[in-house]
Amino acid sequence: MASQLNGVEVAVVGAGIMGISVAYYLVARHGIRSIALIDPRDPMSLTSAQSGENYRNWWPDEVMRRLTDDSIGLLEDIARESGNRINMTRRGYALVTRRSDPSDLVDGLHRAYGDADGFVRIHSGSGPHDSYLESTSDWSKAPGGFDVIKDRALIRKAFPAYAPDVEAVIHVRRAGSISGQQLGQFMLERIREAGGVLIRGNVVSVTAGSRFELSIDRGGETKTLSAEKLVNAGGPFVRDVAGYIGEDVPVLNVYQQKISFEDHLGVVPRNLPFTIDLDGPTLSWTDEERELLESDPATEKFTRPMVGGIHCRPDGPESGKWIKLGWAYNSTASDPHDAEPIDTQFPDLVLRAASRLQPGLANYIGRLPRQSHHYGGYYTMTKENWPLIGPMRTPGAFMAAAPSGFGTMTATMSGSICADWVAGRAVPSYAEALTAKRYETGGLPDDLTESVDRGLL
Ligand SMILES: Cc1cc2nc3c(=O)[nH]c(=O)nc-3n(C[C@H](O)[C@H](O)[C@H](O)COP(=O)(O)OP(=O)(O)OC[C@H]3O[C@@H](n4cnc5c(N)ncnc54)[C@H](O)[C@@H]3O)c2cc1C
Repeated sequence: MASQLNGVEVAVVGAGIMGISVAYYLVARHGIRSIALIDPRDPMSLTSAQSGENYRNWWPDEVMRRLTDDSIGLLEDIARESGNRINMTRRGYALVTRRSDPSDLVDGLHRAYGDADGFVRIHSGSGPHDSYLESTSDWSKAPGGFDVIKDRALIRKAFPAYAPDVEAVIHVRRAGSISGQQLGQFMLERIREAGGVLIRGNVVSVTAGSRFELSIDRGGETKTLSAEKLVNAGGPFVRDVAGYIGEDVPVLNVYQQKISFEDHLGVVPRNLPFTIDLDGPTLSWTDEERELLESDPATEKFTRPMVGGIHCRPDGPESGKWIKLGWAYNSTASDPHDAEPIDTQFPDLVLRAASRLQPGLANYIGRLPRQSHHYGGYYTMTKENWPLIGPMRTPGAFMAAAPSGFGTMTATMSGSICADWVAGRAVPSYAEALTAKRYETGGLPDDLTESVDRGLL
């Protein structure tokens, strides 16, 4: 017979950043202390360990814009409270294009942010602002809004590392990086101080009744845990956990990759914002390489025009040398129970694509330093790329799921909203749109699911 653990008020399945954040806000906002976080792995060691740790409030729709803006506000609170233990920086995101008239992007900013004076600052040679030149990594001092730089000379002055064919740069100012691991640790300490516990084990079944009865496999030994409320924060395995209570969650798992290495040639300036090349490339190959790629259905796509969104940033302290490159070109969903679908060509592909914008990176093609890392994880996402935060159909069950490629930056507000739902408190007005009810009530903008611009990076 399975032995019984002490019952709790809230059982949170999954100790990634989403589960930890829900538990943190249950403690911090609602004084709920009887919490168990359950995970067979070390906290923050699955998807949350793969994050690029970037944040931005740039988003094509209002719901996501408000979620990210509020999340960044909460991150700033934690940075302030903890003496910036979470290493929050704010050099912005620079969105770069060779199109001379990115008016669609500027219109998008006005749509999501309104027309507040000075929020979107256009610099086309004669503009009154010089904010495009202000550069600071201090999150408490950096400007807000957006600088749209449409003059080649100004671009060269502000961003000398970019290739000369760049025509426009949108510099998103409320954006930068944090240490997701430090954020998780900070929250875990508060949860433990309040009496919350971490249970090592895999939840293998759940019976829903007047309370939830969880069976937890702890390496061959089964324990049961009774909980008044259940939070599903299972990351790529959120559907498994939902299945235990007879529900499904409409999410896909799409594998995305990054590389990091020591830029010993000093190609990438240490004060560079997180830079995104928006223009989709067609990579150039020798005839021999092209033939080889075309001969395999899995690699043939690399010879065709590819999506944009190649990104690059300095990693670690300004005195360091490491850089990170990423490119979310994969759109094929995988089963997270299978082996990770890592592309062995990824380092080569991302270097070729990124060297269009920063030509010095071409020096590393085929010559990556030995200590480089190639890694990846799943974007667990809905089709429209909005997360699922809030009640499940089963009374007393909630989820904090599908945070795609934005889970580190939105964990705070997602956790706070989910904790509000669990505690039965009022939620912000946009929180309804983040629940699964949006599929029934028409809470989803019609054009979003099919849109190419779903904020996917
Ligand atoms: C390559 C890459 C780059 C990224 N870059 C960024 C970025 O720059 N900025 C950003 O904001 N976001 C980024 N993200 C996204 C972010 O990392 C994720 O959205 C976030 O970490 C997901 O957190 P999670 O808690 O939902 O999932 P996870 O971290 O995967 O945690 C889920 C946990 O649930 C546990 N679990 C599952 N099933 C069970 C069960 N039955 N019993 C017990 N435990 C269970 C798992 O063991 C796991 O520990 C990136 C993601 C990837 C892959």
